[in-house]
Amino acid sequence: MPQLMQSPITLIGGGLVGALLAQQLARRGFTVDVYEKRPDPRQAGFLGGRSINLALAERGLQALRTAGLAEDVLQRAVMMRGRMVHTRDGRSGLQRYGVDDSEVIWSVSRGALNMLLLDAAEAAGVRFHFGQSLVDADFDARRIRLADEQGTERSVDAHVLIGADGAGSALRSAMHAYAPLGERVEPLGHAYKELEIPPAGELPIALLGESGGHDQFALEPHALHIWPRGGYMCIALPNTEGSFTVTLFLPGQGAHPSFATLPNTAAAEAFFRDDFPDLLPLIPNFAEDYGSHPVGTLSTLYLDRWHLDGRALLIGDAAHAIVPFHGQGMNCGFEDTVVLASLLAEAPEDTAGVFAEFQRIRQPNADAIAAMALENYVEMRDSVADPHYLAKRELGALLAERAPDHFMARYRMVTFTHLPYAYAFERGRAQDQLLQQLLRGSSDAHSVNLDAAVSALKATLPPLPHLRHG
Ligand code: FAD
Repeated sequence: MPQLMQSPITLIGGGLVGALLAQQLARRGFTVDVYEKRPDPRQAGFLGGRSINLALAERGLQALRTAGLAEDVLQRAVMMRGRMVHTRDGRSGLQRYGVDDSEVIWSVSRGALNMLLLDAAEAAGVRFHFGQSLVDADFDARRIRLADEQGTERSVDAHVLIGADGAGSALRSAMHAYAPLGERVEPLGHAYKELEIPPAGELPIALLGESGGHDQFALEPHALHIWPRGGYMCIALPNTEGSFTVTLFLPGQGAHPSFATLPNTAAAEAFFRDDFPDLLPLIPNFAEDYGSHPVGTLSTLYLDRWHLDGRALLIGDAAHAIVPFHGQGMNCGFEDTVVLASLLAEAPEDTAGVFAEFQRIRQPNADAIAAMALENYVEMRDSVADPHYLAKRELGALLAERAPDHFMARYRMVTFTHLPYAYAFERGRAQDQLLQQLLRGSSDAHSVNLDAAVSALKATLPPLPHLRHG
């Protein structure tokens, strides 16, 4: 049991990362108060009941295992074996993510997961204060100012502050005003909108046929569906009750198609009829969804400094928001929580040392996943339908089969192992260069002499570390 800190930890934000961190800290004996802007979703309902989901992968799952929550979460998740790519001409095919069903990702409801984490944190002794928004912090007096939903303000003591208040973090703004953090926000220029495919029972029977025998779902449930269209795309992730959450990713401004050129539902529907003709009929409430759901913007956040000595620290999206194309933002934030909780448990009195060490360990990894997430957008919307990319992928799979100690696709390292993101990034780059050299511009993986390729691989790259599942 760690020595108790003299002062409680004040956490701002009870979202995915905040709730999981709070639970882990409370389990380690810390006194934790969480101030969350929104009302308690277990009473108020999450986002008006809309189903929004996320992909949970090995890193996030490992953090949930550490917290003793993995089984509970998996019971409420839908397994996804790979990408089901839907081409313009209406064909579809599954590209498996891993080698078998031990390498899959999971679609989880954001709202259900958040509520489960809140329950777990509360059961561990965390005190939640809902409807309490951080307005400002006085780091010298070690007090914070909060506003309730009516705008009434009050101040409370906050000896050690941790900001898990997301990409638009108010704690980050307060820290930056006190001592600049070296903040850079790089907008992607592309934005997103969520739509919904309802359970199969709510669709005309004539539209069904691709659900692989799963009657409840309009499409194959055990896949992440992608409709890649070059500069833009739609994706769809399954929900346990049979629906899919569809996300349209598109440039925000500029030439057609962009959100600017689709200002109303009629224009958007015509665009879907042309570009996603097989998807549109599966979204019977298209006009209503498109008209009422907001357009979300996407950016990458970089900071030089994540903490203010031992007084305040940022974690999760508040420190390193990334674009969602590797499905790793939450997974990375969950990994953060394990590292921080264990560092704090080892040295509860030395928050300055712990916060500095946390940044030293996590920042190179956050930078690496930020870069890979940006690259993955091009891959998802474009390359998954490109013959040269597919040949590289196939050659990579052949090498992984022949020399598993020397080759693992970068996607697998990121998604199914705990190898540091920074390692996966560097190793992936080196492997990609080798594949390019071996293929010499060819789009046929079988044109490469495999024995020679394996020898070249072993001569060029050291064996992979033995860290696959642990
Ligand atoms: P948030 O989830 O943003 O939570 C922040 C919390 O702080 C919220 O509860 C908020 O109400 C509260 N808050 C905000 N301001 C204040 C304040 N002033 N005072 C008090 N409380 C405050 N990640 C994945 O791993 N897999 C995916 O498939 C995936 N898909 C995504 C798809 C999209 C379209 C997007 C945008 C992101 C996706 N992500 C995904 C990323 C993931 O959503 C984030 O990384 C994750 O939510 C970060 O968690 P967080 O707790 O740090 O921040």
